[in-house]
Amino acid sequence: MMSDPNRMQDPTTQYPKAGPEYKQEQAPPGLETKMDPKPDDGSGSYKGSGRLAGRKAVVTGADSGIGRAVAIAYAREGADVVLTYLPEEEADAKEVVQQIEQAGRKAVAIPGDLKDEAFCESLIESAVKELGGIDILANVAGMQQYVEDIADLTTEQFDATFKTNVYALFWLCKAAIRHMPAGGAIINTSSIQAYSPSEILLDYATTKSAINTFSKALAQQVAPKGIRVNVVAPGPVWTPLQISGGQPQQVLPEFGAKTPLGRPGQPAEMAAAYVFLASQEASYVVGETLNANGGMPTP
Ligand code: NAD
Ligand code: MG
Repeated sequence: MMSDPNRMQDPTTQYPKAGPEYKQEQAPPGLETKMDPKPDDGSGSYKGSGRLAGRKAVVTGADSGIGRAVAIAYAREGADVVLTYLPEEEADAKEVVQQIEQAGRKAVAIPGDLKDEAFCESLIESAVKELGGIDILANVAGMQQYVEDIADLTTEQFDATFKTNVYALFWLCKAAIRHMPAGGAIINTSSIQAYSPSEILLDYATTKSAINTFSKALAQQVAPKGIRVNVVAPGPVWTPLQISGGQPQQVLPEFGAKTPLGRPGQPAEMAAAYVFLASQEASYVVGETLNANGGMPTP
């Protein structure tokens, strides 16, 4: 799947609607290399223009889905990238490392579990050592497992979803801000689920509204230091998250059909939002949420 983002075209048909072939299941966290159809990560189309020249970036969840498209776009815009992901996602991460190196930038792969505070701290310390500092932190990693009945939602899952989506964000921001210069940027990842929660995503949807609120508070706190904090809130995007327990299999053929554009988004369509918010072009944009969701109304 690929599309030329530099050519004007109808966004309703820029990428295909979902269909029966979208029904496919993997164990979490899932591998993009095993998906068919394969999401568009922008590797065939994204053109950089030096908007992040010389920046030092950390991207979490950079092996697949949205994080992968962000890592590729950041490298093509001139940034060196530390990418992090779970150890079992090495096959996906290898392809991203290759893409970053092909863009002529440095790629440092540091797998680990973000639910662990010590790992989050060591990740930022390693990034500072390997890249010589940290200018951009894009928090894209996340966990989503649907559960139909609250009676079946375990404390273990509730805890893991909050650790991955909220605590890790806190630990990573805390560690990174110590090292960030004025001009630095943090971009967090929320979701349409923060405003229109699905009944089967109690824990996940709640973490996403926490991320919005955390980001708005932190944005005000660090703005005087010249550090900008913003959020991207995607709608339904075709990624491993959705096919590895993020959605029930029976809804996947209709994935994204209810958006005004009538189709799922692709990771490549999210990357430019993360580039904009990281770049100096967004110098007066602070505490904002950029919704990229195919047209669903948000507050
Ligand atoms: P994805 O599965 O490709 O990416 C999620 C990544 O999170 C994984 O690749 C994995 O590396 C990382 N991760 C999960 N648990 C981790 C842990 N304990 N330690 C370290 N890394 C961990 O799926 P995606 O859809 O691209 O997800 C990226 C972000 O986008 C998530 O925050 C997700 O909530 C958000 N989002 C996705 C959609 C969508 O429809 N796909 C919609 C709204 C928001
Ligand atoms: Mg992955």
